[in-house]
Amino acid sequence: MKKNKETKFIFITGGVTSSLGKGIVGASLGVILKSKGLKVTLQKFDPYLNVDPGTMNPYQHGEVFVTEDGCETDLDLGHYERFIDENLSRINNITSGMIYSEVLAKERRGDYLGNTVQIIPHVTNEIKNHIVAATKQNDFDVIITEIGGTIGDIESLPFLEAIRQFQFENKENCIHIHLTLVPYLNSSGEFKTKPTQHSVKELRAIGIQTDVIVCRSSKIFPQEIKQKIALFCDVKTDDVIMCPDAKSIYEVPIYLKNEAIDTVVLQKLGLSQSNSNLVEWENYINIIYQKNKPEVNIGLVGKYTALSDSYLSVTEALKHAAAANKCDCKITWINSETLHQSDGSKKLDECDSILIPGGFGDRGITGKLIAAQYARETNIPYLGLCLGMHIAAIEFARNILNLEDAHSTEFNPNCNDPIIDFLPNQKQLSEMGGTMRLGAYPCVIEQNSKLFSIYKQKEISERHRHRYEFNNAYKALFEDNGIKFSGNSPDGKLVEVIELTDHPWFIACQFHPEFKSRPYKAHPLFFDFIKQTLKLTSS
Ligand code: GLN
Repeated sequence: MKKNKETKFIFITGGVTSSLGKGIVGASLGVILKSKGLKVTLQKFDPYLNVDPGTMNPYQHGEVFVTEDGCETDLDLGHYERFIDENLSRINNITSGMIYSEVLAKERRGDYLGNTVQIIPHVTNEIKNHIVAATKQNDFDVIITEIGGTIGDIESLPFLEAIRQFQFENKENCIHIHLTLVPYLNSSGEFKTKPTQHSVKELRAIGIQTDVIVCRSSKIFPQEIKQKIALFCDVKTDDVIMCPDAKSIYEVPIYLKNEAIDTVVLQKLGLSQSNSNLVEWENYINIIYQKNKPEVNIGLVGKYTALSDSYLSVTEALKHAAAANKCDCKITWINSETLHQSDGSKKLDECDSILIPGGFGDRGITGKLIAAQYARETNIPYLGLCLGMHIAAIEFARNILNLEDAHSTEFNPNCNDPIIDFLPNQKQLSEMGGTMRLGAYPCVIEQNSKLFSIYKQKEISERHRHRYEFNNAYKALFEDNGIKFSGNSPDGKLVEVIELTDHPWFIACQFHPEFKSRPYKAHPLFFDFIKQTLKLTSS
């Protein structure tokens, strides 16, 4: 296996419980290493058998994050991009489903020359190839690889075995970080190290000795807890890093740096120590923790409102935009399935503006139409993202153009006025996974538009994930009645953005701008949405 000699590898596993935030810890370490001038990337291995999370219900798995190259990936990739401020690609998220598909395709082609195909070595080799492939993208100094799941899961075993082998083959260039939980027991007033000890023991049983242990805890624990963990787990006290709960995930890089994780990691990888600072992060944190800022209340109307992770990039983009506007952003979650005409406006009345994010399927569509109508009629800002654009167009067609049966063929294939219809290449498709219009596409902006005043650019590029689009047969009718098609594909065939001409701020786009927002580089569309909302609430 050929690999770049200089690249260093950091593997991150998690123990004790899931949801400890391996992704945030990995991304935060990436931030610190990048601030030292190292070229860093992050990779996630997901042990489930889906080829990608694109076909999974957001209730189970949270948001599907879309990369520039159109890969549907785990939401941790969103954290990675937002933290290290680099665009990632399909090589950065590998699933068991992908690995097995590749192994089975090779087997069918006869590539294994009559051998029995087995988890070790065939599946593990395929996994190792993917680690090396990630380094080839851009000659990285460091690649941080997160193994999804928790130690003890059956399905992550092939990945752990692969990294065990990889570490053995590349001893000088690898370290292992294990993330655990140190619970605090209120009843006895003590921090407990036993779960960490057990998790490290479990790792050792599969042949991995961790180099660094990052301990999540509800609050700061004393030095003797570190000493105890070090003693039982065969690491130095300095290699035990404390990571107490933070009010904002964007504070974690600062926490980890204060614990000198960078000194420990660089020394173990044989890289030279160098100074760095996290000024941008500190400034960002200072702004978001500042007290008595004005607040805007955004009504987020969706059907997965019980699990905010389903709209993670949207809520993060709103937070970034609020920080850039030096205000707080309260999100009022409105479940579109329970938003009925009679009581709808009560919930909507609380909101300063409305955002309808992306979505699939006809559940909750009526509630979303009510919300879009409310924003249009009451002149409060409206931002529609993908499905949110379809909703805006349907509502306008029904209530302004009097096309009562206007709909998207996604929800009613036989409607009289299919103002939203299949993209031309989608009609014949039979497979669901990975077949939408995905990833970055250019959009040309009409100069005489609100959109142009926001982006201040004639051409932009944004990420997409959809099967349906605005039906051009209706374009003239919409234009004649107050809709501006302010963003279009360069060939003019696909509508990318619509806006209402006689409304203070009503913009809906076919793309997903949320994927490109970064904490201290708010996305222009979200920035302006919050800015306008703030202006209206303070006037
Ligand atoms: N369901 C719609 C489509 O497939 C919108 C998708 C989305 O909002 N991402 O076109």
